[in-house]
Amino acid sequence: MDFKNIKTNDKEYIANTYARFDLGIAEGHGVNCTSHEGVKYLDLTSGIGVNSLGFCDNDWANAVAKQASVLNHTSNLFFTTPMLELAKKLSDKTGCKKVFFANSGAEANEGAIKTARKYSQEKYGEYKTDILTLVDSFHGRTITTLAATGQDVFHKHFLPLTDGFSYAKANDFDDVLNNVTDKTCAIMLEVVQGEGGINCLTQEFVEQIKNLCEQKDIILIVDEVQTGVGRTGTFLASEQYNLTPDITTLAKGLGGGLPIGAVLFGEKCEHTLEYGQHGSTYGGNPIVCAGANVVVDKITPELLKEIKEKSDFVFSEVSKVEGVKSVTGLGLMIGVEFNDFTGKQVVDKCMEKGVLFLTAKNKLRMLPPLIITKEELETAIETIKQALTELKKGNN
Ligand code: PLP
Repeated sequence: MDFKNIKTNDKEYIANTYARFDLGIAEGHGVNCTSHEGVKYLDLTSGIGVNSLGFCDNDWANAVAKQASVLNHTSNLFFTTPMLELAKKLSDKTGCKKVFFANSGAEANEGAIKTARKYSQEKYGEYKTDILTLVDSFHGRTITTLAATGQDVFHKHFLPLTDGFSYAKANDFDDVLNNVTDKTCAIMLEVVQGEGGINCLTQEFVEQIKNLCEQKDIILIVDEVQTGVGRTGTFLASEQYNLTPDITTLAKGLGGGLPIGAVLFGEKCEHTLEYGQHGSTYGGNPIVCAGANVVVDKITPELLKEIKEKSDFVFSEVSKVEGVKSVTGLGLMIGVEFNDFTGKQVVDKCMEKGVLFLTAKNKLRMLPPLIITKEELETAIETIKQALTELKKGNN
């Protein structure tokens, strides 16, 4: 099928919920992919932070293929080992006590929210229902995780959402205090907001929240769906904030290309969910976990060090580019704001030149595979420069 036909059929058969780039990807390896028309692209999107090892990493693909020929699925009614191995690795890397496997970031967050409510209601009473999240957060698209998402634009058309959510401004502890009540059972946050525009929380704000949660026995949930599994230069971004949350959620990069979500429970909540209180048909699927095991094995201290070095390089080089207003983020989760152009304008121009980026609000967003090389980053930065020059000339 040629690309024109693909687009026509897509419009006819696929629900119209995405504003896709004018590009179809036929195959990929590492940081490169090829369009249906045979054009090569350098990919700094990693399927929105999913392809942590790039497209079709050999070890990942082999592990997935091997598992697919040995045991594809059993349901959670039976014991299987890939899930167990993965849980042990996650526990070793993060210190968490127990893991619940789901299939997406939204589902992982649902599990976290249910756990926080149960913990608090059992301990204090049924009135403890409320969860505070931050303005500009993004926690998913289910009715409850939409309620957790502090952006009205996503709520429109879908009311009423799940009750019990309120929002405080990021990095404004007074606003947090204004919103915390006796009914608050949890505070949920991303330490670097992804979809909200690559906004980093300050160390001071995170510490204030941590202390408040400890004083009031409020469950602290950190959504590491986008920041987790090495993305920011540590296995969890929380580590850089000296934070040990009660619950951490993972998804995206953990699977390396297959759908997974994980809820990591610290000591406080390790026994909260009991038999029959939560579940998933696919959660912990052997094929998905076989791939995730390879991802986690490959997030070595050496790779994490390289991620930090590559991040420093991008920050220093991109800040110098004329026309760049700000560079924000952590590790290889980076947002770039421009003086005269929107992120979308620059991203579209870069795509014409063979380099793929994402946007986040008005910024260009880089979420490259973690294995990207310094040379590939150089190419990407050079492309941004060229795109800006052309846009300035009005060649857009
Ligand atoms: N949480 C965060 C921080 C995210 O960035 C996202 C997706 O972008 C989600 C949750 C939702 O994840 P999923 O699309 O896998 O449900």
